[in-house]
Amino acid sequence: MVVSPPRPPPPPPAQWVVAAAGRGSGGAGMWRRLRALRDCGRRWQHRPAIQVTNEPILEFKPGSPERAALQKALADLKGKTEDIPCVIGGEEVWTPTVRYQLSPFNHAHKVAKYCYASKAKTVIQAEIDAAAELIDFFRFNAKYALELEQSQPLSVDISTNSMVYRGLEGFVAAVSPFNFTAIGGNLAGAPALMGNVVLWKPSDTALLSSYAVYKILLEAGLPPNVVQFVPSDGPEFGDTVTSSEHFCGLNFTGSVPTFRRLWKQVSENLERYRNFPRLAGECGGKNFHVLHRSADVGSAVNGTLRSAFEFGGQKCSACSRLYAPASLWPHIKEKLLEEHGKIKVGDPTQDFGTFFSAVIDDKSFARIKGWLQHARSSPNLTVLAGGGCDDSVGYFVEPCIVESRDPRDPIMREEIFGPILTVFVYPEDRYREVLELIDSSTPYGLTGAIFAQEKAAIEESLRLLRHAAGNFYINDKSTGSVVAQQPFGGSRISGTNDKPGGPHYLLRWTSPQAIKETHVPLGDWRYAYMQ
Ligand code: NAD
Repeated sequence: MVVSPPRPPPPPPAQWVVAAAGRGSGGAGMWRRLRALRDCGRRWQHRPAIQVTNEPILEFKPGSPERAALQKALADLKGKTEDIPCVIGGEEVWTPTVRYQLSPFNHAHKVAKYCYASKAKTVIQAEIDAAAELIDFFRFNAKYALELEQSQPLSVDISTNSMVYRGLEGFVAAVSPFNFTAIGGNLAGAPALMGNVVLWKPSDTALLSSYAVYKILLEAGLPPNVVQFVPSDGPEFGDTVTSSEHFCGLNFTGSVPTFRRLWKQVSENLERYRNFPRLAGECGGKNFHVLHRSADVGSAVNGTLRSAFEFGGQKCSACSRLYAPASLWPHIKEKLLEEHGKIKVGDPTQDFGTFFSAVIDDKSFARIKGWLQHARSSPNLTVLAGGGCDDSVGYFVEPCIVESRDPRDPIMREEIFGPILTVFVYPEDRYREVLELIDSSTPYGLTGAIFAQEKAAIEESLRLLRHAAGNFYINDKSTGSVVAQQPFGGSRISGTNDKPGGPHYLLRWTSPQAIKETHVPLGDWRYAYMQ
């Protein structure tokens, strides 16, 4: 399960990725404890259920110790630039390709200096979402791994059967997005927990937080050569890992085009590999809130504002399309606009009342600005509120609410990944048609929510939107999944839906070996019926 059997010696270090691939894991701390549990017997043993609870989420109320600690940490970080090397086989490596991570809300501040791994070198050898979620991932993955280990085949009088949960043979490439620290830690941490060697390529715009997680893992006892920390150029990393014969898995979270590109490269290289690689990818969404005429408007509006604008709409699960029944629309609109006026956007280190900060970088800013121009110029669309943007100090975009008269306008079909919410008002007697429209108007299938009090309306939405969302919410917003409570992921082009945060996820990162040991010698090669 946790630690794979001894691996073959590493291949010649022609490329850093290949060099890192063959290294085995050993372990201390958590790793050693898990291995000890494996070693204490391959046969199924009844152990008491493992009790694990979610990490409590700190509230940061005025006067609380966590708020004071955060303020102190922010003051300490002010103006500082952290140096972040590549770390391969436990060794820090600096390459000549130096880059900087900028603060999105003050791009004059370089928060981290890092370097890119490259192909040819010696052996070169990468609070809700960050802290609590990551802790939950690690705790629950350990619990699930132990439970998986307990899942053993039947043994009979004449033979003992057991299952060994081996790591995959080769290396797993973990490629993480910019927007969730916890996801990055889990993309690398889950395969490592199952006994795999991992090459972790963090996102350029999340270097500092990813490096902090990596260092915490080492402090917690992860042996230094299990996860290689390799900041690198995305395409160069992708080209390199997918062309190595030792590539055995991709654990990816990011956009659809990047995942498609990697998948294609894998299929083109299939004949090189020693194994059929496991490909897991969690991608984007075009997430919806649909309000039935029986909806509680206050709750639906609050949930929609949170889901659409929290983190500047840069959550894969953010609501970006809202379907409102005509009879409720005047009330919904009034509340949406009233509350929208209270949303503060700014530098979160200066004002705790800030709801969201700048978008991540200049590229995102330009892309979102393009959508805002579309909203202003299209005859189908009316901007109801917000939509200003300013990148003089940081990449700030105001939350924007748009009304669309065409439910198939691109703004209602494509992922924006920014603070833009588009509303389509439907005649309330067309509830069924609107559900069919939601299901068919985008190729995504990540998250969605129904707001209704009538049971029949909820049941109809469950039936008709069965494939429209891998995470479906009833009278709750489309964001905020909690590890072990709502394992996360969507189908269609939103990803392979492997449900990180749930018990099935770890199976992706193990290659189980079934072992039969027979206790009775075979006395004759002939079957009894042949006598
Ligand atoms: P992205 O696809 O631009 O980048 C993701 C990672 O891939 C980055 O580390 C990037 O450097 C790397 N990369 C880029 N090109 C590559 C290549 N050719 N080969 C290998 N790696 C390459 O995505 P992003 O902008 O960082 O993240 C936003 C996207 O991620 C959105 O679409 C969002 O919906 C999605 N996302 C999904 C989930 C989920 O759980 N479903 C969670 C978070 C983000």
